[in-house]
Amino acid sequence: MTIQDRTRPATPPASAVITIEAVSKVYPVRGGVLKAVDNVSLSIPRGKTVGVVGESGCGKTTLSRLVLRMEPPTEGRVLFGGRDVWKLGRSERKGFHRGVAAVFQDPYSSLNPRHRVSQIVLEPVRVNMGRESGGLSRVRLNDLLRSVGLPEAAAGLYPHEFSGGQRQRIAIARAISLSPDLVVLDEPVSALDVSIRAQILNLLKDLQQQIGGAYLFIAHDLAAVRHMSDEIAVMYLGAVVEYAPVQAIYNAPKHPYTQGLLAASLPPDPRRPNLDATIFGEIPSPIDPPSGCRFRTRCPIAVAHCAEERPPLRERGDGHLVACHLAD
Ligand code: SF4
Repeated sequence: MTIQDRTRPATPPASAVITIEAVSKVYPVRGGVLKAVDNVSLSIPRGKTVGVVGESGCGKTTLSRLVLRMEPPTEGRVLFGGRDVWKLGRSERKGFHRGVAAVFQDPYSSLNPRHRVSQIVLEPVRVNMGRESGGLSRVRLNDLLRSVGLPEAAAGLYPHEFSGGQRQRIAIARAISLSPDLVVLDEPVSALDVSIRAQILNLLKDLQQQIGGAYLFIAHDLAAVRHMSDEIAVMYLGAVVEYAPVQAIYNAPKHPYTQGLLAASLPPDPRRPNLDATIFGEIPSPIDPPSGCRFRTRCPIAVAHCAEERPPLRERGDGHLVACHLAD
């Protein structure tokens, strides 16, 4: 294995619910190609959460679409339970759709306004279980509403009769209705009032303990990612530039981009190193990314070599991976 191949993980762990294996996604665009996701690898075991964080346009939402099998990768594989999700037979695809659920950013557009809550929440049960769902669904509906903190009376109402936070609770009830193995949480609190974000995040954590599934938590909000995640992948222009357990990312970030994100978003903390690596400028066009290190045009410590060679994502001890020539 070359050092450039040392992305995480080298081989998918047997316990992983989902494994993203050297996945890239390229779109043809006028004047070239857009590499939205660039050789990303990670895996999530049952009961664990991997957070993916980065600015808009870093590729994190494209990554979630690849995991959800909404579009195929250009290169690499997404493995669910060890099987390539694009090589599943018909019955295996059914298993995939039962085992993988999602909660999206906007609870206003993700719920059908013409359907009552009962129909919305039980839709996955009905679609996946057919006739078997009849007796189960009435009991299950009340359980699900209770588990997300909604009264049973909510079942007969329409989405417009709820607040944003309550709508997201409805979306969460729908997502967990089949006790999925994996839930993709794509900016699930970004559209909500700050005052209720913590309630929804705590609800998601409690539900994870109950259903035992894996979470892929995608957000630009570092505080939310820290609250939810066991490990964090920091993405920049489609690639992972740092990957580590949550405490390592927050207490000892090694990549200048991660340091800049932290400095911009978290209050000063004497336990953390001096994070004065401010990020400047705009994120470059992914159609024409900089040579060498993609971050070099905004990096406060870039040297000449950074323009010549792209730094590989390399392990720097204790499962802490960094893509920076100066990380050591
Ligand atoms: Fe900055 Fe160079 Fe490291 Fe890239 S490789 S993050 S430009 S120091």
